[in-house]
Amino acid sequence: MSRRMSNIPLLSVAVLLFGVIVFSIMQRPPEAVRADMAGVAANTPIEKGADMSGKVVKSDQEWKSILTADQYRITRERGTEPAFTGEYNKHKAGGVYKCVCCGEELFDSKTKYDSGSGWPSFWAPASENDISEVADNSYGMTRIEITCSKCGAHLGHVFDDGPQPTGLRYCVNSASLKFDDREEPQGGENE
Ligand SMILES: [Zn+2]
Repeated sequence: MSRRMSNIPLLSVAVLLFGVIVFSIMQRPPEAVRADMAGVAANTPIEKGADMSGKVVKSDQEWKSILTADQYRITRERGTEPAFTGEYNKHKAGGVYKCVCCGEELFDSKTKYDSGSGWPSFWAPASENDISEVADNSYGMTRIEITCSKCGAHLGHVFDDGPQPTGLRYCVNSASLKFDDREEPQGGENE
């Protein structure tokens, strides 16, 4: 009886030691979290769900050869088209809006609405993984720039004055988009 009692303090020391080790391991943030915190502090891109694999990387010369001058200026040089001038500002057809640079599906017409801003506006992206958010402090404003996760194309900005259910307004340059009416081939008679 007394022998068994004497084992208890030893056992509890072992348990305590184990607990301390586990705790200290858990306290150490993983690489990804630390990198993320460093990114926020340095005001660098806050990549939301960006997948490092499968990215489209082209040289400026290559982008220039496949884009119009306006598309290049806006998507690759973070330009902005004048309000109420874009091809898709009043566009209402059903389909998907793809990245003009890489063809990634970015927005669905089901989430498009008329914000009155003069730029195509959406209350949600087609998929959160397709859009990256970057803090933008240019022009004395604090805004969140949105870019295509796949190729880095500048799209526009996201604001929190959009309609429900998200309350978000993805304000996008028409020049960053390529509309696809997603027409399915009928019946399948043709190969
Ligand atoms: Zn893209």
